[in-house]
Amino acid sequence: MPEDVGRIFNIQKFSLHDGPGIRTVVFLKGCPLGCKWCSNPSSRKLQIVSMRDPDLDGVFVEDSRDYEVDEVVRLCLQDLPFYEESGGGVTLSGGEAMVQHRFALNLINRLREEGVHTAMETTGYAAEPIFSRFVDALDLLIMDVKHHSRKEHKRWTDRPNDLPLKNLRTAVASGKPLWVRIPVIPGVNDSLDDAAKFARLLTELGVAEVQLLPFHQFGERKYELLGWTYEFEGVPALHEEELAGFQQVLADGGVTARF
Ligand code: SF4
Repeated sequence: MPEDVGRIFNIQKFSLHDGPGIRTVVFLKGCPLGCKWCSNPSSRKLQIVSMRDPDLDGVFVEDSRDYEVDEVVRLCLQDLPFYEESGGGVTLSGGEAMVQHRFALNLINRLREEGVHTAMETTGYAAEPIFSRFVDALDLLIMDVKHHSRKEHKRWTDRPNDLPLKNLRTAVASGKPLWVRIPVIPGVNDSLDDAAKFARLLTELGVAEVQLLPFHQFGERKYELLGWTYEFEGVPALHEEELAGFQQVLADGGVTARF
């Protein structure tokens, strides 16, 4: 893909959960991981998908297409007054936005030229030189740590955690603003023993605060429509109050957890 065209499956305005303030979130296609709980399964593939839900009046499940960088910048700048008022900006998400790294870096640089705060939600699964370029370019990095165990990370995401952890060390060492998140998934990483192991890992990495993202079922219908197997079919969502013990064990291990 050229650096001025990116494949995007959603541009969500007025987000309050993907960085500070009011933000526009740009969701890029493609992801090297295969998390079994992924709530945007079709976003993993780079191919354009146009899929509606026949049971929901034809609401789009995914409507991806190619965008010129100019168009994305123009759409993002429509909300500049809201960013300025709230301390917000633009967040790149996915999929894994570093898959389309040329376009993503181009977009970040263009937005920064316009004075827009830029953040990225990332798995950290990218070649080290590419990852470092994003650390330099972004105002804020938001990184997921999906599992403390290399073996279990591979079991549940199709990839071991060596590269994301190496890149997380780079992000910590850079001194750049960094938010670390744990998606807490039933039967995968939600036990108190897991919490203790996350605390040990994060402390060793120099991370003192994390955000917990409790498992939800937003993706279930998408698997059904895609005809894909979903390992978490019927698994109940987790709620904040159920994670009080998990949160406490992290705190006991020196890591403050918030939602
Ligand atoms: S990293 Fe995100 S987009 Fe990629 S498979 Fe996992 S949950 Fe899905």
